[in-house]
Amino acid sequence: MTPFQQLLSQSHLAQYRVEPGTRVDLSARDPDETGPFEKKKKARKELERLRTKLIALQDRFYAWNERSLLIVLQAMDTGGKDGTIKHVMRGVNPQGVQVTSFKAPTQEELAHDYLWRVHKAAPRRGRIGIFNRSHYEDVLVVRVHNLVSESVWSKRYDHINDFERLLADSGTVILKFYLHISREEQARRLQARLDNPDKRWKFSKGDLKERRLWDDYMAAYEDALSRCSTEHAPWYVIPSNRKWYRNLAIMSILVNALEDLNPVYPEPEEGLDHIVIE
Ligand code: AMP
Ligand code: MG
Repeated sequence: MTPFQQLLSQSHLAQYRVEPGTRVDLSARDPDETGPFEKKKKARKELERLRTKLIALQDRFYAWNERSLLIVLQAMDTGGKDGTIKHVMRGVNPQGVQVTSFKAPTQEELAHDYLWRVHKAAPRRGRIGIFNRSHYEDVLVVRVHNLVSESVWSKRYDHINDFERLLADSGTVILKFYLHISREEQARRLQARLDNPDKRWKFSKGDLKERRLWDDYMAAYEDALSRCSTEHAPWYVIPSNRKWYRNLAIMSILVNALEDLNPVYPEPEEGLDHIVIE
């Protein structure tokens, strides 16, 4: 293949998928990996080719109005959830996209079961829904900080699989991305937030406390990724130390999923051929 034809093959992307029933070892997955691309410059053309495709596919998906698509983004702090949304969805018609960012639950949310707020945010037909954090926090931060007892959180993997099956059976395609960065890369990015006045607002001292719990988070992530990657809602572990490669890989998987759905414009009303607008 010449350098001008480089693209991310389906088989390469398949390596990022967590095969249902298998155990994930995050330490064995390289967050620096960039597939067939050496440098950002070499991937630019492919990124723009995919963007053109994504915009056209989303236009059809919205008009088709038959199915929903849910993208779940999870990552450690600085992992790139916000950047992924900004860069992957650039140019896509905002009318067909809804982003929901899940923060610590409110009093009202805490007065319900943990999936209540999540189910309400599930995308309606024709829409792409993006979860910036998600119900997975209820087996991640909640588990790491013992916000509920193990007897409570340990049941949640089954709830989550059943909940995602309900969405899938109702016509939602679900793609879940874990943005995999190294602890060293997180240090660089946190430092950059401190050093750049325009990024400081993103820094929270609490992030340092979470960083110290890195290993606990990795263990919780490995369980969530291993136990909740299913045929109807697979997890992908995306190498994310290089932001441009992360964007490219996610965009490729998204374009492939939309192409598989093959959305079509609805049939127009009959008898339009002879209408002339005066
Ligand atoms: P950020 O993504 O930086 O805006 O931070 C959102 C915060 O909300 C993070 O610290 C999450 O851990 C926290 N959060 C999200 N969902 C939950 C949840 N279900 N329970 C507790 N904390 C949560
Ligand atoms: Mg934060």
